[in-house]
Formats: sequence, C-alpha cells, structure tokens
Amino acid sequence: MTKHDAMKQIRDELVAFRASPLYEYRTSNHFLPVVGEGSHDATVIFVGEAPGLNEAKTGRPFCGAAGKFLTELIESIGLKREQVYITNIVKDRPPENRDPTPEEIALYSPFLDRQVQIIQPKVIVTLGRHSMGYVMKRYDLDLELDAISKIHGKSFETVYFDADNKPQPVTIVTLYHPASALYNGGMRGTHKKDFEVLKKFV
Ligand code: URA
Repeated sequence: MTKHDAMKQIRDELVAFRASPLYEYRTSNHFLPVVGEGSHDATVIFVGEAPGLNEAKTGRPFCGAAGKFLTELIESIGLKREQVYITNIVKDRPPENRDPTPEEIALYSPFLDRQVQIIQPKVIVTLGRHSMGYVMKRYDLDLELDAISKIHGKSFETVYFDADNKPQPVTIVTLYHPASALYNGGMRGTHKKDFEVLKKFV
C-alpha cells in the first residue's frame, strides 16, 4: 500500500469512528476529524493535543492563532510548513476546548502510532504536556519524563518499531505548546530558542 493510501485509510476509519465518545459531538456540529497535514516523507512530525474550533471546522491542524505562531517557528529554522507533517494525538475536537481525557488519548493514539510508521520520521516533536506524556511513554522514555518546565527544548534518542516490527532510531523533542505564547507573550523568546534544537535536522 502506498503512503497516500495508508493515510487515506486512517482518514476513512476516523470519519466512521463511532466508537469515539467525540463522534456524536463532531457529527451533530458538522465538524471534521483532523487527520494531519504536510509531507508524507517528512523528517519531522509535530504532535499537538487535539483540534480546536477552527481545526474542527476546516479539518486542518493548527490553522488558528496557535497555528500561525507554529508556522512562524517552523519558518524561523528555515523549513516550510509543507515540508513537515503536523498532527495531534486526539483527532476530534473535545467540547469547550477541554483537555483530552486519558480514555480519548488511549482510543485515538493508535492512529498516531500508525502515522509514525507511515511517515518514518527522524524526529517527533511533542507540543505541550499531553503530547509529551503520551509520546515519551509510548517510545520507552518513561524514566526521562519530567515536568515540561524542566524538559522543554530537550531531545531524547529512542526507537519506534516500523511496520515490519524492526526498531528504527528516532529523536523525540519536547516543546511547549505554541498556544502558551498567546496568553504569555514573554514565552515567545523561549519558543524561538527551544526550536533551535531542530536546526540540526533541517
Ligand atoms: N491546538 C492543538 O493542540 N492542535 C491543533 O490542531 C490546534 C490547536
């Protein structure tokens, strides 16, 4: 199966994902699931938490104010947004922008795991603490997990298992969620500095 077909299969499954507690909320509001966007051959995958209102309306990840800042950060290290892949752990919008529940993370995270196997990135960048917690535990970095205020801007070497169950090296980079700079302008400098850790992969 091509990468395109494998990603389309994920989209089809998400569209019909009646097992999700967010399915009814999505369909009754005419929202869309947000699969992800960008290059299927990306070296870097960015993983946010869950779609907000703009994202659920358009089906595109990070297309509101936080997304505008994320695009600016990506460009600040010489990459274009289309060269990376951007997605979330939870693919449907939780009501009232609440944090995703542990059950929702457990239900949706296998889709993210499959996206990692399809894209085969060199780097997985987590945006925010939920994404950091899931990705670090998933890729055997439980012992390195700490408060995001302690480990933002750090990178960790680990492996993921590809579709043939072979271990493949991958670097996990833990960043603050870009929305944090929207309510605290002083954070913008921290984001810019943390992003520089990605320069060696571009
Ligand atoms: N915040 C996220 O975590 N993901 C999005 O797609 C948008 C905002």
